Amino acid sequence: MSVHYQPVECKSFLHHFNKKFLPFSWGANPYRGCEHSCPYCFARYTHEYLGYNSDTEFDNMILVKVNAADVLEKELSRPGWKREAVNLGSVCDPYQPAEKKFEITRQVLKVFVKHKNPLFIGTKSNMILRDLDLLSDMAKHTALIVYITITTLDDDIRCKIEPRAATIDERLDAVKQLSDAGVTVGILFMPIFPYLTDDRDSINDVVKAVSDAGAKDMVPGVLDLRASCRNRVLSLIKEEFSELLPKYLALYKTAYAPKDYTGKIYRAVEIARRSCGFKKFKMPALTEKQTTLEV
Ligand code: SF4
Repeated sequence: MSVHYQPVECKSFLHHFNKKFLPFSWGANPYRGCEHSCPYCFARYTHEYLGYNSDTEFDNMILVKVNAADVLEKELSRPGWKREAVNLGSVCDPYQPAEKKFEITRQVLKVFVKHKNPLFIGTKSNMILRDLDLLSDMAKHTALIVYITITTLDDDIRCKIEPRAATIDERLDAVKQLSDAGVTVGILFMPIFPYLTDDRDSINDVVKAVSDAGAKDMVPGVLDLRASCRNRVLSLIKEEFSELLPKYLALYKTAYAPKDYTGKIYRAVEIARRSCGFKKFKMPALTEKQTTLEV
């Protein structure tokens, strides 16, 4: 796949959103579009807001916010800024392959470190280890949580559902190295694919592996088939796991799996978590922690 990188100047870098169930209300994206091209990605539609085709250009027309660090510096320096937590990579992976070439994420990370601004980072790439120096320094001075997606230990399945993201071993290694460096790491245990990654053994194995690697939090989620995800995921199932297609069609009468199914999966995750001694994570009081550290 050939990828076109489009440099853009952003007017603002932080964007506000109001989702009470999330521990942050600001998001930031060094890139728009994502080369990882996961079939289940539901961020594709956001490319339409930028004037691009969500089906054909989301993963090969990548907008690179070349002035992001300068804009962020101004935003974090505003007198009214209360140093609320920011989710870096709220729409697109900040460590997708473009980052190797442009290093926009590293540049903005330096600004977040300078301002000791509480930060969440979500990724499916072990490229985050390149920034271990900044992250371990930041973890000493403010709240920082890195969330890495791991849904299966079966790399054959991973190759099909996340074809361009890091391997499972690379992600587990990233969890371990970050944890060893003092960074709090959580696992996005999502999307759990029905009949593929949802059996008890598979769930137990993932929970045990991430627990052994040092993860402190785990957020499970069952696959949704919202908007264009439906066609993409069902095409994937048809091509790669054709025997499961009738079961998927029966389960997904709507965009969401029924509650009796999802409840069963979340209970299995909870049982696995307890049997590994994986404690419930307590989200740090983000601003309090910072205040305490600065006294
Ligand atoms: S890594 Fe995230 S943003 Fe990128 S394609 Fe996959 S799900 Fe979408």
